[in-house]
Amino acid sequence: MFRERGIEIKTPEQIAWMREAGLVVAEALSLLESAVEPGVTTRELDAIAETHIRSRGATPNFLGYHGFPATICTSVNDEVVHGIPGDRVLREGDLVSIDCGAVVEGWHGDAAVTVAVGSVSDELHELMRVCEESMWRGFASARLGGRLSDISAAIEAYVRSQGDYGVVEDYVGHGIGSAMHMAPRVPNFGRPSKGPKLVRGMALAVEPMITLGTIDTDVLDDDWTVVTTDGSWAAHFEHSFTLTPEGALILTALDGGAAKLAELGVACALA
Ligand code: MG
Ligand code: MG
Repeated sequence: MFRERGIEIKTPEQIAWMREAGLVVAEALSLLESAVEPGVTTRELDAIAETHIRSRGATPNFLGYHGFPATICTSVNDEVVHGIPGDRVLREGDLVSIDCGAVVEGWHGDAAVTVAVGSVSDELHELMRVCEESMWRGFASARLGGRLSDISAAIEAYVRSQGDYGVVEDYVGHGIGSAMHMAPRVPNFGRPSKGPKLVRGMALAVEPMITLGTIDTDVLDDDWTVVTTDGSWAAHFEHSFTLTPEGALILTALDGGAAKLAELGVACALA
């Protein structure tokens, strides 16, 4: 069923399939976070993700997406998103953003984390923390009957309150469900109380991308890898989520978001 501007509205049964897909993604990302260390190649990380997703009877949804050649995106340092796994060896002090997706019974999950390789500077830890926290502030601002840009505004306001970070505008979050990328767009910036009404059955992937410098990006000659034009390093976090009468459900979090939403004083459907 579709309502308002082509936004797909899911039944509770369809949301349950999305939760299954989300759990597969959450498990894969958890394995990948543990596997990141100096000396590992991004191709090795890709293999871990693909093996796990298939072992759960799910299918990688990035693989073959507009010709994308891998299961995950691995974006290192000044790469923002859409990096292609390969021979690159991760080194102490790098940041790697890992984006992962899976589909179960036709229903999609999509999430991303940025991970420090070995020990990194306090500045980089703070970059990651601010990016991840801004995503959660976005979820915490979402209410049934509220508006989509409440999420966008909460993300931007949090990032701006924490320092002089670039909030990337060229890439944004999105609706998700029977396809990975669907209406509506979910920007990481803007004023509140605008856009589609947030209703039960809507599912959104929220994914702030912030940098230590510019918001301007280029795409490398591989036609995928997005980099900052000034070489500044970036972080990227993403979860897919939905709103229920009992509270928010973070579909791609192992605990459904219960712990973090409780910290923010927001109801979680799984709490
Ligand atoms: Mg993603
Ligand atoms: Mg996404």
